[in-house]
Amino acid sequence: MSLTEKPEHLPSAVLGDTVLDTLVPSFPAGAVDALRSQVHGPVYAAGDDGLAEEVATWNVAIQHTPAVAVGATCAADVAAAVSWAVAHGLGVAVQATGHGPVRNAAGSLMITTRRMQGLSVDPDRRTARVEAGVKWLRVLEAAADHGLAGLCGSSSDVGVVGYTLGGGMGSLGRKFGFAADHVQALEIVTADGRLRRISADTEPELFWAVRGGKGNFGIVTAIEIELMPVESLYAGGIFFAGDDAPALLHRFRQWAPTLPDEVSTSIAIMRMPPMEELPPPLRGQTVVHLRYAYAGTDHAEAERLLSPMKVLGTIVMGYVGPIRTDETDSIHMDPVDPMPAWEKGMLLADLPEEAVDALLDAGGPQIEIPIFMTEIRLMGGALGRQPKVPNAVPGRSGAFAVELIGPGIPELAQVVPMVGNGLLRALAPWKAPEMMINFLGEVSGPGEVAAAYRPETLDRLREVKRAVDPAGVFSFGYAI
Ligand SMILES: Cc1cc2nc3c(=O)[nH]c(=O)nc-3n(C[C@H](O)[C@H](O)[C@H](O)COP(=O)(O)OP(=O)(O)OC[C@H]3O[C@@H](n4cnc5c(N)ncnc54)[C@H](O)[C@@H]3O)c2cc1C
Repeated sequence: MSLTEKPEHLPSAVLGDTVLDTLVPSFPAGAVDALRSQVHGPVYAAGDDGLAEEVATWNVAIQHTPAVAVGATCAADVAAAVSWAVAHGLGVAVQATGHGPVRNAAGSLMITTRRMQGLSVDPDRRTARVEAGVKWLRVLEAAADHGLAGLCGSSSDVGVVGYTLGGGMGSLGRKFGFAADHVQALEIVTADGRLRRISADTEPELFWAVRGGKGNFGIVTAIEIELMPVESLYAGGIFFAGDDAPALLHRFRQWAPTLPDEVSTSIAIMRMPPMEELPPPLRGQTVVHLRYAYAGTDHAEAERLLSPMKVLGTIVMGYVGPIRTDETDSIHMDPVDPMPAWEKGMLLADLPEEAVDALLDAGGPQIEIPIFMTEIRLMGGALGRQPKVPNAVPGRSGAFAVELIGPGIPELAQVVPMVGNGLLRALAPWKAPEMMINFLGEVSGPGEVAAAYRPETLDRLREVKRAVDPAGVFSFGYAI
């Protein structure tokens, strides 16, 4: 193929003048039809109706323009798609829900997993086997029927597999650790097209790497996770007036580290959009949202622990009380509908008075900035400890996680990252040496992902990568 020819199958977004052949190798006519005959799910090539819909993201700020998309229905489809991609020189990307598209997987073969909905719960062993397309809500509901809970994050609309491979920090995190700490086995298709079932006993090094190394080693087709013996929570969120931010954030930094591991909590300055759907006290307002989850049965103790924060500011609205384990979305109240978001995070080793002052100076409610959410989450507890079977999850040295979200729209494409990165720079003196993969936000390339890990973890991950994916077939998204 010459560099000046525009091949039929290429998406226009990747048509550079000079780097075409390195981005998207060509494949012979009929090759896509051959792939169609090998898989049960639909196959789309660039230019086909339905491709854009097949690879649509939840975070619509990033849109994928793969060369080919395969809507996998089973592990065999995934294996066939990976083998076909390798044979035709395409890299492989994967998407379940589109909640975490850190960059466009342009020119890839993208496997979408949302048709892979197998889910079974074994209440006696307290485990669930979850296929690649399943979102957390179904797991929470199925587990709750047996008095069990999954280690879901702030939104149950997120995919179990993608979330867990990046660590997975949720409202039971300080008590039980990262979701990745409770994976018992994984089914994964590697670059050689093989479906392997891996565990600590069968392939310990790969098993270590995949739990925390995200999609670098293959496409996970199913995951076996442990469920926690938690029947209910004392949890919810309280919105305070924005003017209370200085007092609340300073109290939070002193109060939160005194809490037992049963409590997970975060606080966020929220600039709410003027949307009709929002209740009037929040619509268009800047407020402070305290999120609180107590994973115990002693409700009086849960209230006693919360009280130093509750008495501090003007409460606009909120609820903290008993909830079922499949109602945890009410804690953070994350948006449900797809939206264009710019995200960026940082882990802090410490949150002294000066750090809170720096955050308020750069992002407090007194200034108008295009950042919807500035969140500080308490880490520590089980999140700070290696699990029984250690894994590659970075971030255990963090005392607090900071996460920013702003509008990811073209009109503000320069401004939002400039303001957001400026805010994070103000916190740089207290930065921890690692970063949580799931909170990286948009990344410019592998260097930024690699910097999330400690050097010794990164070296070990790269060694595993060289062994199982020497040609770098899985080099999109969170690639190291
Ligand atoms: C509203 C919202 C709330 C969130 N809350 C939390 C939270 O509380 N805690 C937390 O830890 N994270 C949280 N996240 C981050 C989330 O965990 C990541 O964005 C995660 O990557 C989403 O996975 P997904 O499969 O749903 O998304 P997708 O965009 O479909 O996938 C993202 C990436 O996951 C990997 N991946 C997905 N499926 C597979 C597979 N089968 N095999 C291999 N790799 C795969 C790939 O690298 C892929 O690029 C939140 C994100 C959003 C948007």
